[in-house]
Amino acid sequence: MKQIPLRLKKGTHTNCIHAGEIKDTQFGGAVSPIFMASSYPFMDVEKKRYPRYFNTPNQEVIAKKIAVLEHAEAGLPFASGIAAISTTLFAFLKKGDHVIFQNEIYGGAYNLVQEEFENFGIEYSFTDGVEVGDFEDKIKENTKVIYIETPSNPLLTITDIKAIAELAKKHQIITIIDNTFASPINQTPLDLGIDISIHSATKYLGGHSDILAGAVAGSEEHMEKVFQKGKNLGGNISDFMCYLLERSIKTLGVRVEKHNTNAQIVAEFLNDHLSVRRVYYPGLRSHPNHEIAKEQMHGFGGMLSFDLEVNIDAKEFQNALKLIKPSMSLAGVESTILMPSLTSHGLLSEEERKKQGISDQLLRLSVGIENVEDIINDLQQALQQVIS
Ligand SMILES: *Cc1c(COP(=O)(O)O)cnc(C)c1O
Repeated sequence: MKQIPLRLKKGTHTNCIHAGEIKDTQFGGAVSPIFMASSYPFMDVEKKRYPRYFNTPNQEVIAKKIAVLEHAEAGLPFASGIAAISTTLFAFLKKGDHVIFQNEIYGGAYNLVQEEFENFGIEYSFTDGVEVGDFEDKIKENTKVIYIETPSNPLLTITDIKAIAELAKKHQIITIIDNTFASPINQTPLDLGIDISIHSATKYLGGHSDILAGAVAGSEEHMEKVFQKGKNLGGNISDFMCYLLERSIKTLGVRVEKHNTNAQIVAEFLNDHLSVRRVYYPGLRSHPNHEIAKEQMHGFGGMLSFDLEVNIDAKEFQNALKLIKPSMSLAGVESTILMPSLTSHGLLSEEERKKQGISDQLLRLSVGIENVEDIINDLQQALQQVIS
């Protein structure tokens, strides 16, 4: 038998299952008990136990788990991805500060910036692209934060994490990443120099399309700031949701590995199909930043997008699918599809959509963990229907 060397650090799958868990000392049960109390005795003046202080037993399970998975000193759970994003941004930005956002960011984050920042006197710029120079161009004297999202939604654009982190460090700017699409299984940005990593736990961390949650991870020092802002803004998660999320994260590693293999196969199938004009997937050699993705990701993820040929009605194609269901959300165990031009980007003008590369034939596919043959069969029969 091969000798397995002793090691001090646990593996990712082990951490998904065990990191932060609560021992059931009363009955010796196998899982963390749920503690629903919102009332606890005073520990001391500084440290009170209260759900809005992010420190109930079940909240602490998620805080520790996300910290371990993100290779961070500390983590915090939130009631939604947007609660995590807004709290983190407001923790590091005040009136008169400037923040740089990558041009492609999640729609909800975009709305937060567009609709709220001016009210708080926070200046912002969006980049023109995702090259380092695009970020450098926007740096001003009062720039405090650079915010990136990679892979991005919906075109799976890859930003060079290490290069952005280096640029920011040179200018003493804090870096924040939305790491939702990759999950901590496929990408650990703190290892590449990013300060703070954020997740919509509604997506891969939850993974079963039945949880709304968020999470943030970073150094003790940075997370203390997020905590201080968080207790004032109140985007806290319930203990019951923490319990569900803990249960979900136990299988995060195996789920994401399966999402990765299925998505690669589906991407290659679509890439070879005559009715598909273009596939956006970082695992394809044809992806413009495939080499960077290979460098900074441990897996290419379960999300991909593709353009059908111009003579094909994408709506008709979507309606012809039987197994793959239309969905606003993503990252569940089940495969789902969305037409950005009619949904997430439906409010933009045709010209603006074109500028962003969102065609009327674009479909965003969240590849699930079903048998990959069934996913491909479904795509194939739907394509056949719309081209005949
Ligand atoms: C869904 C999502 C969010 C927002 O998270 P909610 O949990 O819906 O608040 C943020 N970023 C990305 C990339 C997402 O997919």
